Amino acid sequence: MRDTFNREIKYLRISLTELCNLRCRYCMPENGICKKSHDEMMTYEEIIQAVKIASRLGVSKIRLTGGEPLVKSGIVSLVSKIKEIDGIDEVCITTNGTLLTKYARELKNAGLDRLNISLDTLNPEKFRYITRVGKLNDTLKGIDVALNEGFKKVKINTVLIGGFNDDEIVDLANLTMTKPLDVRFIELMPMYDSGDFGKEAFISSDIVIDKINEYYKNKMNADDMIFPVEADNGSVAKKYKIKGALGNVGLISAVSNSFCSKCNRIRLTADGKLKPCLHSNQEILIKGLNEKEMEMKFKEAILLKPEKHDVLSYESRSHADRNMNQIGG
Ligand code: SAM
Ligand code: SF4
Repeated sequence: MRDTFNREIKYLRISLTELCNLRCRYCMPENGICKKSHDEMMTYEEIIQAVKIASRLGVSKIRLTGGEPLVKSGIVSLVSKIKEIDGIDEVCITTNGTLLTKYARELKNAGLDRLNISLDTLNPEKFRYITRVGKLNDTLKGIDVALNEGFKKVKINTVLIGGFNDDEIVDLANLTMTKPLDVRFIELMPMYDSGDFGKEAFISSDIVIDKINEYYKNKMNADDMIFPVEADNGSVAKKYKIKGALGNVGLISAVSNSFCSKCNRIRLTADGKLKPCLHSNQEILIKGLNEKEMEMKFKEAILLKPEKHDVLSYESRSHADRNMNQIGG
């Protein structure tokens, strides 16, 4: 289905839970969240119904996210049920990777196509700092297990934070030289609870290419080691490759260069609200509705998609009125 600005909506991101086993400083509060009652959250039956409706309206790609989707019990059977729905070509998960040693194989067998794994640093102390509780090794092991299982694509999501990991850009990008994965740098978005970060943390992803160029210039006097390549179909990431690399480097410039005109997605929160736009507070409740009512709400949400969101900056925060763990990224 097309929205009022003629964008074809093909991608549904479903947040399965607001809960997480980590506490990333840009995403959720230190003490976690007030657990909502079970009755407020979407049931698996409702999620399946929502995907069937979305697919009838033209959605072909589903991403399961959270919170941490792998802490949700029944995740493997949910993936296989979604995979069976007519019209759904791709089912993907975004995860912090810590539980992949347990689930990667089962998820692959259930038909999961792609995995995005979040990793902001290669330094164990910094990992502990940014996640407040996590162990770097758990995520690194998760990445290796995912690669060994042979998923179509494994992508690393790195939130770029000035003064925290801008000194690791080259090390993170160079993971693409030794492993067949893409590393994507995402600009830090000023959400409700990213208050730990000052103005200097919000930096443009353009710095990534400059740092990689500078590194290879100094190391081997090479000028053109990183070059643009064609972006994936429907992807919002600008794609680059370092010469000789097995994977790609991506830039997701959600703050410095919003991609609203290309936005083909709609979001569903764990508490059953459709969000036409990540950065708007507009929400349409679908929990508890029968199929016909839910379909009408889906159409309404697609037609409510705004042309673009307001400019984001340190001074001008997202209007989402939720933290990222309550939206799904
Ligand atoms: N727990 C999973 C994970 O970390 O991958 C899935 C949920 S998480 C909310 C989805 C993505 O949003 C992650 O890649 C995370 O780094 C990103 N994210 C969270 N807060 C963000 C923020 N303020 N700005 C940019 N990206 C953010
Ligand atoms: Fe959890 Fe993902 Fe948010 Fe980190 S980014 S706190 S892993 S939901």
